Order: sequence, then structure tokens, then C-alpha cells
Amino acid sequence: MDITIIAETQGNGLHAVTNQLVGAASSLGASPTVLCGGGVGADEAAGIAGVGKVLSVTGDCFSTFDGGAWAAAFDAAAGSGVIVGAATAQGRDVVARIAARRGIPVVQDVVSMSPGLNMTHPIYSGKAMQEVTVSGDCGVTLRANTFAPAGGGGSAETATVQQSGDVKIAVQEAIAKASERLDVADADIIISGGRGMGGPENFDKLYALADEMGGAVGASRAAVDAWDGIPHTMQVGQTGKTVNPSLYIAVGISGAIQHLAGMRTSKYIVAINKDPEAPIFKVADYGIVATWEEAMPVLAAEIAKIL
Ligand SMILES: Cc1cc2nc3c(=O)[nH]c(=O)nc-3n(C[C@H](O)[C@H](O)[C@H](O)COP(=O)(O)OP(=O)(O)OC[C@H]3O[C@@H](n4cnc5c(N)ncnc54)[C@H](O)[C@@H]3O)c2cc1C
Repeated sequence: MDITIIAETQGNGLHAVTNQLVGAASSLGASPTVLCGGGVGADEAAGIAGVGKVLSVTGDCFSTFDGGAWAAAFDAAAGSGVIVGAATAQGRDVVARIAARRGIPVVQDVVSMSPGLNMTHPIYSGKAMQEVTVSGDCGVTLRANTFAPAGGGGSAETATVQQSGDVKIAVQEAIAKASERLDVADADIIISGGRGMGGPENFDKLYALADEMGGAVGASRAAVDAWDGIPHTMQVGQTGKTVNPSLYIAVGISGAIQHLAGMRTSKYIVAINKDPEAPIFKVADYGIVATWEEAMPVLAAEIAKIL
């Protein structure tokens, strides 16, 4: 099976999810070709075990992000077969556009995949999981932190191709990330707060515990909408980020279906909510029926004992 991976980049290097994409492709018996837009991360990609070839796709369009332009460049550079990207905002955009250009199906946010291209992915905002089998060429995006990453030690050949696309988006100003904190999309432990936190100042309790545990702080949409200090970058859910950490602690979050869509595949879910009927308890592995004011100090003290 011919698999081409669109490398996910972060700054001047590869995002960790790229190793997971290679790991998933290798589990299907493929030696994928990895495309690196603007050549970013090409040397790193060549060192990933299992990579067959790395193509640096250089072109003017890679100086800024424009999904249409990137898709045109990658489409021209990639061979036929399966196009794989990460199920990030950027990856979903680019892979869907390549699939549209080629007239092939696209399966987004895949959480399991086996030989024969049998895949599982969420539908109806995560209310159900659908199993699909695709024969022939297709586009696929894979959920981060779901597939085992390929290790290092590879030495794939690298080549450069010059391809670009028409940039139709003009970036007026790039504003630096408001926070240098760990992003929820990259975290293995997430502590999220909802409207039940009562105000943005109370998120300090969540930051303190997250810092101790090496985790990130997320939020529900109600919290993001209500409070200036809680930016949209922290939002987990249907219109926020999809996360898949080992541990997700939901504090003062009711568990609306749109929130669950973004976090229900977390390996362990802990919920703190004063309402025993809150829907979050239906997906929680461990539930604490209490106010966060009561529960958080106890939880923090117990966690401190084991760290
Ligand atoms: C199209 C669409 C997209 C959406 N996308 C998203 C999305 O991406 N992410 C998202 O989160 N939501 C999303 N929503 C909104 C979603 O429907 C809910 O409104 C939202 O998730 C509710 O947030 P919440 O749980 O923080 O607030 P609430 O539903 O108000 O729940 C607050 C909870 O806190 C508990 N509580 C109160 N005080 C305390 C206390 N002191 N201690 C402990 N518990 C306490 C309450 O019992 C309650 O369960 C979307 C909605 C729509 C229509």
C-alpha cells in the first residue's frame, strides 16, 4: 500500500504527532513517503524509523498557511495511494482539500486502523463511532495520541521538489501565542474547568495542579465564552480541540455532548461536579460528587503524596 504522510510541523521542526502517523502507516506494512512543506523538519523525518522517503516540498506558499495553496503543492508532489495527515485543524483542512482535488474519499479523525484500511472514526459529533473500509485511494487524518509513535534510527533518502499553490489568504499580522503553557492538544494530562469554576481567577487552582502533574489546562465553551482570561485555544469540544490524553480531569463541567465530543476517548476521565446527575459522570471512570472548593484541595494533597 502506498502511503504519503503530510508532516505536521511546529515552529521549525516536526510536531510529535508526525511520528505517530509514521507508526500507524508502518503498522499497515507500509514504508511511507513523508512530505515536508517548505522543507521544515525534513532531516528529522528522515531519521524516523520506517520512513521510506522524505520529500521537501519547497515553494513560496509555505511562507504562510493557506490550506488551498498547501493542498495544491502537496497534491502535485504526492503520488497516488493513501494520503495521511494529523487530525489537527491544519491537517484536516489540507488532507480534505487534497482529497477533493483528487475526487477521492476522506475519513477524518480516525482512532483505529487495521490492514485492508478498516478504520474507526467518530460521527455525529462523537455521539457514535463508525467503522469504514475504503478500497482504493483516499485521504485519512489520524487523531493525535492514539497511535504508537515510530522511534528514531531511520535513514531515509531525502529529495526536494519545487511545488507551490496560489496563496489566497493574506496574513495581516501574526500575534504571538498568548501563553507559553503546554497546549491541551499536546498534553497527556489535562485538567479542564467549566462554568462551575465560578470565575477565571479560580482557574489558578487548576494551573497549580496541572503544573505539578506536568499537564495542561483546558476549558469548556461556557467558560471560554464567559470569561476574558480563558482563551479559545483552551476550549475542548466540538468547536474547540479534540484531545486524547491519558488522564482528563473535568472540574465544574456538566458534560454536554459538544464537550464530550472533544474528550470522551481520553483513557481515564475523572469528574468533579456537585450535581450527581451531571452527564459527565456517564463517561467518567472516577466521579467525585462535591464542589471543586471541597474536592480540589483533597485531590491536590493526595496527588502531591504520589508525585
Ligand atoms: C454548536 C455548538 C458547539 C459547541 N461546542 C462546544 C465545545 O466545543 N466545547 C464545549 O465545552 N461546549 C460546547 N458547546 C456548549 C455546550 O453545549 C455546553 O453549553 C457547555 O459545554 C457547558 O459548559 P459547562 O459544562 O462549563 O457549563 P454548565 O453546563 O453550566 O455546567 C456547569 C457545571 O458545573 C457544576 N458546578 C457548579 N458549581 C460547582 C462547584 N462549585 N463545584 C463543582 N461543580 C460545580 C454544575 O453542577 C454544572 O454541571 C457547544 C454548543 C453548541 C450548540
